[in-house]
Amino acid sequence: MKRVLVWVILFAMPVRSSLARHTTPSTSSSQLGKNAQVRAALAWFAPNVNWINDQQARLTEIPAPAFQEGQRGAAVKALLSGAGLSVQTDSTGNVIGELRGVNEKEIVVLSAHLDTVFPAGTDVKVRREGSRMLAPGISDNGTGLAALAAIARAIREAQIKPQRSILFVADVGEEGEGNLRGMRALVDAYHGRLKAVVVLDGAGTDHVTTIALASRRLEVIISGPGGHSWSDFGMPNPINALVRGSVRFINTKVPASPRTTFNLGQIEGGTSINSIPYEARLKVDVRSESESELTRLESALRECMSAGVRDEMESSRDRSRGKLEWKVELLGSRPGGELAAESPLLAALRVADAIVENESRIERSSTDANIPLSLGIDAISIGAGGNGGGAHSLQEWYDPTGRELGLKRALLTLLGIADVAPEKTR
Ligand SMILES: [Zn+2]
Repeated sequence: MKRVLVWVILFAMPVRSSLARHTTPSTSSSQLGKNAQVRAALAWFAPNVNWINDQQARLTEIPAPAFQEGQRGAAVKALLSGAGLSVQTDSTGNVIGELRGVNEKEIVVLSAHLDTVFPAGTDVKVRREGSRMLAPGISDNGTGLAALAAIARAIREAQIKPQRSILFVADVGEEGEGNLRGMRALVDAYHGRLKAVVVLDGAGTDHVTTIALASRRLEVIISGPGGHSWSDFGMPNPINALVRGSVRFINTKVPASPRTTFNLGQIEGGTSINSIPYEARLKVDVRSESESELTRLESALRECMSAGVRDEMESSRDRSRGKLEWKVELLGSRPGGELAAESPLLAALRVADAIVENESRIERSSTDANIPLSLGIDAISIGAGGNGGGAHSLQEWYDPTGRELGLKRALLTLLGIADVAPEKTR
């Protein structure tokens, strides 16, 4: 009863008329679920779910640390070619499969990032336990990549010709220090023609990310002369200074609203237990719903580290024997942005949710969608179905049970915004 009511409300919502106004679709979105070809594409998933799961496991077992996505990219390229797309790899490593639309001047992108947070050498062999698959990267973003290939296949098998061209993209550099370089290059290359970007990232169907969380990644580097632990005791120690500064920084108050977070994610330095180190480094990730909070936190980090260095210098017994130098470098910055509530893309997602009887909430997050959103291009990031957990940990898992719902939702959203050409116009 509740679902029916939601369905009715969604269809009665004014966003639908705005969709019609913006896109003058030849197949209106409410008709999408009734279109015979679209139904054929939707029906492709269930009998092929084992194939989709196997591709996910196979891709996950090809390591893809940041800046080393090439081998996994080649495997995705083969899958997209197998789906009948003409596929090329751009100079940053993005794999781009094109399905030409009737109107080639307008492009809709469906993307999934290739890279993982796991360094080379991480054991990425997939274990199966009951219905679960376990491996680092299995869900983030094995799920998105498998869905990208599956949706391309389903559209191909149903011989759908879109109104707007669709680019199926496996992009590089989403995680960590990749700093969204793949998506930046893609948006740069197709700007002007780009109408919408749908990002597939991880599992689930419970959310739609329409608000791009701004973030900055910073690295603190403190250096000094270094020396012997016994004979040079009293010389200022970069690790001591880093710890002193870090303790100050983690006591910084951050507001619950606008939600603001920080993470001391990586710390390194020193060469041996009995040496005063000549260098200490710390990587910090700060995120906020407010750009000004980010700026405040970055300033706080600089002040705390400056104070940490000063404290260490002041407590050092032998300041004449060395001085500490410090700096904070910006490793990456993700711009913020927000999809308009009345955008045709969000309307297409809501129609897709209604057709598959799914309910989802608006979320803010830091994803590949940040780049188009920051430039005023419509973009969303969604999960590609099934369930997952432990993202970015060695215990990461994915359960494909019910994944068809997420695949259908993504396909309907994509076709809702790209639109399906009527057969007679081909
Ligand atoms: Zn991801």
